[in-house]
Amino acid sequence: MKLLEERILKDGNVLSGDILKVDTFLNHQVDPQLMNSIGKEFKKLFDNENITRILTVESSGIAPAVLTGLQMNVPVVFARKHKSVTMNDNAYTSDVYSYTKKVNNHISIDKRFINADDNVLIIDDFLANGQAVNGLVDIIHQANANVSGVGIVIEKSFQDGRKKLDNEGLHVESLARISSLDNNKVTFVD
Ligand code: 5GP
Repeated sequence: MKLLEERILKDGNVLSGDILKVDTFLNHQVDPQLMNSIGKEFKKLFDNENITRILTVESSGIAPAVLTGLQMNVPVVFARKHKSVTMNDNAYTSDVYSYTKKVNNHISIDKRFINADDNVLIIDDFLANGQAVNGLVDIIHQANANVSGVGIVIEKSFQDGRKKLDNEGLHVESLARISSLDNNKVTFVD
């Protein structure tokens, strides 16, 4: 997606450890217009999948997921990383190792918010090694629902996640695919 690639080149900062910082439009401050364009793009890419629900993980997946849900007119659910006092124990859970924070997150989704007849689209901000997406796939399988697709805003294609998800036979669409962050420079897959 050209608009997104241009924004990454303009505003992205490469940090040590192959981390791309995009906190001016996605990870801290959010650009609603760009998120809306992202939502429209995901709608186009997954239009044939009969999506009934979108799942993401808090917090950075929420903005692109909600704007995609708006375009598709389906509910959006975000997995919580911390147990809330308002959340009951009737939840699906999975463990996800966080690439950026280097900690294990115990993610959970209330069982009321995913059904066995759902065709679920997973949306996330980044794909690195695939841990976050795998945790969501695990929860969708626990609910006996169907994983209809995975929409990623920024994929770091030089890490393992994409290959793993492709090998699992999932329909993955990434709007920006980065082949390298070497020498603090962002290079996209051709
Ligand atoms: P994975 O679970 O695929 O290993 O990593 C994806 C998760 O880690 C995303 O949900 C995202 O929050 C975070 N992440 C991974 N790589 C980056 C990165 O380069 N920049 C930022 N901002 N987040 C990242």
